[in-house]
Formats: sequence, C-alpha cells, structure tokens
Amino acid sequence: MKYPLPQLSIVIPLYNEELAIAALFTRLNKLKKKLPTTEVILVNDGSQDRTAEKVESLSLNYEKKLLDFSRNFGHQAALLAGMEVARGKFVVTMDGDLQHPPELIPEMLAKHRKGAEIVLTKRIDTESVPLLKRLTSRVFYFLINSISQTRIGENISDFRSMDRQTVDVLLAMKEKRKFLRGMVQWIGFQTIILPFTVQRRAAGTSKYSLQKMMRLAFDGVTSFSTVPLYFSGFFSVALFLAAFFYGVYVIVIRIESGSVVSGWASMLLVTLTIGGFLSLFLGLIGVYLAAIYDELKARPTYILRQKLRKKS
Ligand code: UDP
Ligand code: MG
Repeated sequence: MKYPLPQLSIVIPLYNEELAIAALFTRLNKLKKKLPTTEVILVNDGSQDRTAEKVESLSLNYEKKLLDFSRNFGHQAALLAGMEVARGKFVVTMDGDLQHPPELIPEMLAKHRKGAEIVLTKRIDTESVPLLKRLTSRVFYFLINSISQTRIGENISDFRSMDRQTVDVLLAMKEKRKFLRGMVQWIGFQTIILPFTVQRRAAGTSKYSLQKMMRLAFDGVTSFSTVPLYFSGFFSVALFLAAFFYGVYVIVIRIESGSVVSGWASMLLVTLTIGGFLSLFLGLIGVYLAAIYDELKARPTYILRQKLRKKS
C-alpha cells in the first residue's frame, strides 16, 4: 500500500517489550481521531524475546514500520535510527512501556501549532519511579549542570516532539555519540516544556541496567563538558607553584646553614623541578585535548532557523 507523507512520526524504541506491545498499540489506537496522518516507527533494539513478532502481528491503526537491529545497541541508538527513518513534519519519540502517556501527543501538536519548534516533557516522579533512580538522576543533573555550559534541564525526558527542522539539525550534527537530551537543549529554537506524571510500566521491568545508565551519564558528561579535562590543569598549576616556592626554600636553607644532609638539597630540587614540569605539561595536554575533542565533535558554530515563509 502507498501512503502519503505522514504529518506525524512516532518513534518507539523497544527492547524485550513483548509484554507491553499489546497495551501500547491499544492506547495508540484510541488516539486515532486526535492525530493527523501518522506513521509509527518501532525500533526493535536487538530483543531476545518475541518483540518483533508482536509488532508484526498485532494491529495498529497507523502506518507501521519496524526497524530491526542486529543486536542491542541501546536506547539512544534506537531513537536516532527511528528519527533517521521518520518522514513526518513532526517527530515524537517515546518509550514503549507506556511510562510516557501517548495521550500527551495531541497536546504537543497543539503547542507546535502555536509556534513551538520543540516540545519537551518534564517528568514528575512519583513512586512508580524507584527511589534509587530518582536519587541518581538528581545527582547526575546537579553534577552535569555545574560543569556544563548548556543547561540540561532536570528530569527532561526522552518523550519529546520536534518539528522537521529540529530533527534535520540534530541528524546533521556530526558527532557519533549523540546525547539527545543535551543536544535538543543546546540547539536552541522555540522550546516549550510540558510536565507529565510518570506512569507505571505497562508490563515487564526496566530495561535500563545500572551499566546502561552509567554509560548514558558518562556520555552526557563527556559530550557536554570538557571541564574534567581542565582539572589536571588547575592542579598542575597549583603543584608547579608549590614546587617552585619549595625549591627556593630548599636553596635558601642550603645556603644559610651548611648543616643539612649532603645531597638533600640537590635531590629535592631535581625531584621538584621534574614533578612540577611534568604536572604542568600534563595539564597543558588536557587543555589541548579538550580543544581537539571539541573540534572533532564538529558541532556547528551556529544554527539558522529555516525560513518559514518562502517568497513567491
Ligand atoms: N530500550 C531500548 N534499548 C535498551 C534499553 C531500553 O530500546 O537497551 C527501550 C525500552 O524498551 C523502552 C525505553 O527504551 O521502550 C526506555 O527503557 P526503560 O523503560 O527500560 O527505561 P526506564 O523507563 O526504566 O528508565
Ligand atoms: Mg520505562
């Protein structure tokens, strides 16, 4: 069947979600009247269960596309793959476990109609989010916001809606490890944040292992801050200065009183000089590494808003 270009693409990453798909499709189907022409892109992120079969066999009242990964590449990779395939004028990304209520999508589209280019959502955590997750998330956002120049809003989720130009800009950015939560806030554009209460998982358990969460956190920090690289620089300057002054002190003592153990002053001077210079140069390397890393990411130096009205 040939479909017209959809107005809306909904991208849903799925990893071992066979139990949640029926409920997910039912909820999406109920929204049929409120959504424009819609394609739903389901990304099977290397599930070991029957996720792909369920997606294929259960009925969905929208154009359905299944992307099948060869193995588990992770949530962010799945989001990106879906965004690359999406053809809609607007692209919504959401989790497949119904923790992101699909009923919010018509509201997101309404915000776009009022001029928003990006509609983000902010999680209001309830008991359905485990305490450990709430705590680690708070610590992560505190840390990243103290060292990143881009403000990365706390609890901004991966449930978001973007217009075509936003999606194109994100996909055009050359960096391979895309920390989407940060990038959508870095690119600018007219952004609106809708709060939503996190729902309980439709079925199954969280697919975000501690290891996956740590990986995401490290990706976030390294893509949005090079401050840790400068730490060695700050330390080395302090250490270098300390070594220098202590060196002067050692010489003074040596000259003033000849009573020191022979060899003490020269040994200490050599150690201090080498140590001081070593740490200083390590720091310098950190600074250059940060610069090279920024160049390598090749983020655009600016982003232009697409011209909305073409002159006829
Ligand atoms: N997910 C994925 N690949 C992974 C882990 C998770 O595609 O390696 C999907 C998962 O199926 C779900 C979404 O990403 O649709 C969010 O994962 P989950 O609900 O397990 O995370 P949590 O809500 O517990 O943070
Ligand atoms: Mg979830």
